[in-house]
Amino acid sequence: MRIIALFISISFMILFAVHDTIGTPRPSSSHDSAPILVCGAGHGGLLAAARLAAAGHHVILFEKKEESRLGWDWHDNFLARSFHDAGLKDPEWNDFIRVNDFTFISPDGNYRITTEIPLQNREIAMDRKTLIGMLVRHARESGVDIRWKSEVSGPVIEDGIVTGVIVNGIKQYGSLVIDSAGIDSPVRRGLPPSYEITREIGRGERINVYRAYYSLNKAVPYDEREYRVYLGINGMRGIAWVRTIDGACDVLIGSIDPLDTATMETIMGKIRTENRQVDDTLIRGGSFASIPLRRPLDLFVGHNYAAIGDAAAMTVPVIGSGIENSFKAAVFLSETVLSLGKPGSGSGIAYHRQDLWDYQYRFYRDRGARLCGLDRVKYFLLTAPWDDLNDLFRKGLLQASDLEKPLLGESIEISTGSMILRFFKGWYRPDLLLPMKSMLDDSREIMECALAIPPRWDEKKITRWRKELNHPFTTYSTALKGKTP
Ligand SMILES: Cc1cc2nc3c(=O)[nH]c(=O)nc-3n(C[C@H](O)[C@H](O)[C@H](O)COP(=O)(O)OP(=O)(O)OC[C@H]3O[C@@H](n4cnc5c(N)ncnc54)[C@H](O)[C@@H]3O)c2cc1C
Repeated sequence: MRIIALFISISFMILFAVHDTIGTPRPSSSHDSAPILVCGAGHGGLLAAARLAAAGHHVILFEKKEESRLGWDWHDNFLARSFHDAGLKDPEWNDFIRVNDFTFISPDGNYRITTEIPLQNREIAMDRKTLIGMLVRHARESGVDIRWKSEVSGPVIEDGIVTGVIVNGIKQYGSLVIDSAGIDSPVRRGLPPSYEITREIGRGERINVYRAYYSLNKAVPYDEREYRVYLGINGMRGIAWVRTIDGACDVLIGSIDPLDTATMETIMGKIRTENRQVDDTLIRGGSFASIPLRRPLDLFVGHNYAAIGDAAAMTVPVIGSGIENSFKAAVFLSETVLSLGKPGSGSGIAYHRQDLWDYQYRFYRDRGARLCGLDRVKYFLLTAPWDDLNDLFRKGLLQASDLEKPLLGESIEISTGSMILRFFKGWYRPDLLLPMKSMLDDSREIMECALAIPPRWDEKKITRWRKELNHPFTTYSTALKGKTP
């Protein structure tokens, strides 16, 4: 009897041990039982997960943080229409505020350009925790199985194909891995070379950011409607902003070079000199983070794999906004997956890259191409000499309408008439106007090239398209390398 009891307990121990190292068991013959695995509770991941679960898919979402620590402690700006476009209910009116017009300040601090965006078109600012909380509720109500404190360390690769992810050291198998784990996603970084997906997002392609809310010193005069955006403040290649929100001073400092505490404090000192209302007491935030500042990856789908949001570099390259694009990508991705139906039984590939390609195609056609064009503008701004940028402000060669467009997610296009007028204004600086004109021409050409994305998977055509799209950027990034910190 004792021997039988011992045998039973050993069998149970073995069973538990096997379950522990395997997590979601590997389905033997059918993909039907294999869940869709979403890595990271970012905006795109949560929305894609919700849409797929609502349509009857078994979706598991792994998030490394605990629920109460999700989302950053600050407000995000994005277009109000994002909710409607993503099929989400509009937020309550008291959940957001309208963003004020921006006042851009030249690198020498002497010139200003203020946008004039009609109120109804302006972005809204919403507390990140409120927004993420809404998305988590929506995902849960749609049937997503959310697992907190579940850190993904990389993909599971079998026979060169992604078949799952490793979560807290345990293999979890799935039919599709949706990578929403942000700019430095370990899933994307762990993909095999055969996937040909960019693994690292390096200098010039990311902006390192410090964001904090400080107490507001009401004793000094300040304009609470002013939203100041500094270009190249203190010689830093990047931007900084200061605004008043929720009775506090919201400060953002973003640099393409590494941003350490000492540099941040130097810039804070400069900001405080010019904005005496920014007091010393830290109220919220006070964190460092990185945002992709580049065109979307030229390939973000592979067999059983699709990246979304920052993991696929879907932010606007000149300003780093990514929420609206991530929402839209979630719509395209979920529609693509749903159009394929549930995978049947068979080989290790449940979702072929040629089928997932439609997701990338639609994203590029809808907005990715515009983001590619804006990446050219970014390189221009990062490599132009400071004096040139000052002159663009000083002589009115750069106008409010040019700066409004990327804020609204649009490409910068300048009519011939307006360009001629600018030539007259800047006649004494042809060395500045010509590069500006050629930057705008390049930007348009890049956008056209990106729009020519092959509609269907054709290895040769796609390889050629990627090569043509990336080609001009090698020159720009070499120019940026010359601009050392
Ligand atoms: C300071 C700052 C300000 C910004 N301001 C704006 C703004 O005003 N407007 C705007 O549109 N965008 C803004 N953005 C960009 C915006 O945050 C992103 O583009 C957007 O959130 C899309 O990102 P995501 O969903 O892909 O990933 P993220 O928001 O980066 O979310 C990734 C999630 O994955 C989790 N995760 C990461 N690694 C793992 C892992 N290994 N295992 C499990 N989970 C993991 C993270 O904890 C996180 O919850 C800002 C970003 C920063 C840093």
